[in-house]
Amino acid sequence: MDNARKKYIIANWKMNFTPGEASLYLNKLSNKIQPSRKLQIVLAPGMVSLQTLSLQVNRRQFKLAAQNCHWSDYGPYTGEVSLTQIRSFVDYVIIGHSERRYVFNESEKQIADKVSAAIRNGVTPILCIGETALDRKDGETNSAINSQLMNGLRQVSKEDIDKVIIAYEPVWAISSNKGAKPANPIDIIEAEQLIRKNLAKIYGKDIAEKVSILYGGSVNKDTAAGYLEIPGIDGLLVGNASLIADQFCAIVEIAKGVRNER
Ligand code: PEP
Repeated sequence: MDNARKKYIIANWKMNFTPGEASLYLNKLSNKIQPSRKLQIVLAPGMVSLQTLSLQVNRRQFKLAAQNCHWSDYGPYTGEVSLTQIRSFVDYVIIGHSERRYVFNESEKQIADKVSAAIRNGVTPILCIGETALDRKDGETNSAINSQLMNGLRQVSKEDIDKVIIAYEPVWAISSNKGAKPANPIDIIEAEQLIRKNLAKIYGKDIAEKVSILYGGSVNKDTAAGYLEIPGIDGLLVGNASLIADQFCAIVEIAKGVRNER
C-alpha cells in the first residue's frame, strides 16, 4: 500500500524572482528535467508569477502551487488572493508554512479554513506542520506536531483526507532561521510515525497509509538521498536549494532513483 503513494519534490521559491526571472528560471528547469511518471515535481513561485508560469509550464513536467491563499472565495479582504481567483493556475497550495505561522501570526483556525478552502476549490493543500526549537527544548515536540496536525485537519472528512499532503518541517531546521541545523533522520522517522498514528486514530489505519508525508528543512543535493530513503517519507519540500538550478535538478535526479517502500 505504501508504494501506491506518489513521490513529490516541491520547490518553495518564497518571495524571490520577478515574473520575468521566474519565467527564465522555469525555462532553465524545463530544459534540464525530464518528466517522470514516478515523481511529481511542484513549483511554488510568488503569487505575482503564477499566471505567467501557468501559460508557460508543461503540466506533465511540473505542476504549480501557490504559497498561500485566503480562506474565503471572494470578499472584502484588501490585498488577499483566494483560490477561486487562482485555481486555474495551480494544482497545489502550501498552507501553514512556519513563516506564515510565526511571521504573520496565522492562527490554527485560519489554517484550518484555508485547508477547507483548498479542498472546496479542488486544489491540493500541502499542510506544513513542525515544532519550534523551543518546543523541542521543552519536550513539547509531539504535542506541537499533534496539535498543528489535528487543528489543521479539523474540517477534513474521511472522504477528503487522501487529497491532503502533510509536510513535516521542524522550524529549527529551516535554513532561513538563525542557527538552523539539518534534522537527524531519527527525528523525521519519529515525526512521520506520530503523524500516521494520529491520522489513523481519526481516519483509520488504511486511510492514514494513503496520506503523503513530506520532509522539509535545509535539504540540499548532499542531504536529499538520506531523507528520501526514510521509509514513509514521500518526498521533499525544498526552499533555498530550489532557487539554484544545479541544486534543484540534482535533488530531482536523486528522487527519481530512491526507493523507500516499507
Ligand atoms: C521551507 O521554508 O519550507 C524550507 C524547506 O526551506 P529550506 O529548504 O531553505 O530550509
